[in-house]
Amino acid sequence: MKIAVVGAGAAGCFCAIELKRRLPSSTVDVFEAGKNPLAKVAITGGGRCNLTNSFEGISSLEEAYPRGDKLMRRVFSCFSHKDTWDWFTKEGVKLVLQEDNCVFPASQDAMQIVNLFLSRMDRLGVSVHAGIKVESVKSLLDEYDNVVVTTGGSPSPEGFRMLEGLDLEMVPPVPSLFTFNLPDSPIRELTGTVVEETSVSLAGTKFRAYGPLLVTHWGMSGPAILKLSSYAARFLSESGYNATLLVNWTGNGEAQVRRTLSLISQDNPAKLVVNFHPATIPSRLWTYLVSKARIRGDARWSEIGSKGMNKLSDILVNDTYLLKGRGQFKEEFVTCGGVALSNIDYKTLECKKHPGLYFAGEVLDVDAITGGFNLQAAWSMGYRVAVSISEK
Ligand SMILES: Cc1cc2nc3c(=O)[nH]c(=O)nc-3n(C[C@H](O)[C@H](O)[C@H](O)COP(=O)(O)OP(=O)(O)OC[C@H]3O[C@@H](n4cnc5c(N)ncnc54)[C@H](O)[C@@H]3O)c2cc1C
Repeated sequence: MKIAVVGAGAAGCFCAIELKRRLPSSTVDVFEAGKNPLAKVAITGGGRCNLTNSFEGISSLEEAYPRGDKLMRRVFSCFSHKDTWDWFTKEGVKLVLQEDNCVFPASQDAMQIVNLFLSRMDRLGVSVHAGIKVESVKSLLDEYDNVVVTTGGSPSPEGFRMLEGLDLEMVPPVPSLFTFNLPDSPIRELTGTVVEETSVSLAGTKFRAYGPLLVTHWGMSGPAILKLSSYAARFLSESGYNATLLVNWTGNGEAQVRRTLSLISQDNPAKLVVNFHPATIPSRLWTYLVSKARIRGDARWSEIGSKGMNKLSDILVNDTYLLKGRGQFKEEFVTCGGVALSNIDYKTLECKKHPGLYFAGEVLDVDAITGGFNLQAAWSMGYRVAVSISEK
């Protein structure tokens, strides 16, 4: 059997290894446009490769995969994050689970993963053709019994040109996982400030995310913002990255925030408001919020009355910012959109209209929040395709 894999990235190389193990007498040709296979894997996780997640902080797959959760449920029944752990361990890669549920190689070196894949492909007899860009997958289908497309994501339609001539539904690609630019906000002067438990949302939408928030010199970043950028990737693209961001600096409801403020006020009536604040709010941020709530810097807790209390609780749970543009999250960025999931059979990942054509990885309309979920998707889909082809 002759099998072509288009794209020597995470999904493509993983699939090629598993294909050749199952079908040793088959020809597996991997075509890679770039000079080096697995170039992106080499820079994942800041060069450390966050290759999966324990999924312990995830209550539903939709939380991790804003696009493709149902497909992921299906492919995980064939190859899950636990299988990923076992697979790499069996291959001699010691893994570590961090407190934040992210999994890395103990070597903290993504090149260990790259070199492992290259050596396995070499040993098994997978032919990797680097520097060869496939211009037409349709032509490849005439030459090979099966073609696996693992060309990854691309924020522009140009990255999907090799699929022209095929009868496929496409979802317009837009970027996901980015930081928020707040060019008009003085909060940028608090760059470096981190608040551990925030809740962020976009006004007039249901998009909401929880987690730590980082103030940067251009606006806001951190896990809560990155998750929100992922959930709202398409909405934000369509709005030209103009939206109203609502920040709850406490992660708690208004009633609880009111109670906390009342206690502080009761315990410190003669003290300055700026000097006594909820424990989770850093001092610099509190000073900024007090001023934004139009409470005088020399006001004491006993002086601000219910009006002042209302202003403070309102700013803590409903602080408003005008989002104007997105920044780049250098650690990771992925594409929302690509080949529509309606094109494929969820069980096998084979294309419904083109038998023998398979898709795996970010080329599909599947993407995740940060934390190792994107690579997990690539391993699981790559594995699923290898099983599907070998079972044919
Ligand atoms: C900086 C950065 C850091 C990241 N860190 C993490 C992380 O720590 N954990 C995590 O889970 N995810 C991370 N991601 C996301 C993750 O890397 C991707 O989701 C994953 O690599 C997707 O795998 P893939 O095989 O689908 O695509 P890729 O790994 O992107 O591979 C696709 C390959 O196909 C090739 N190709 C494209 N078109 C053609 C063509 N026409 N002909 C031949 N070859 C072609 C490309 O050159 C590329 O090598 C990160 C992403 C970035 C950009």
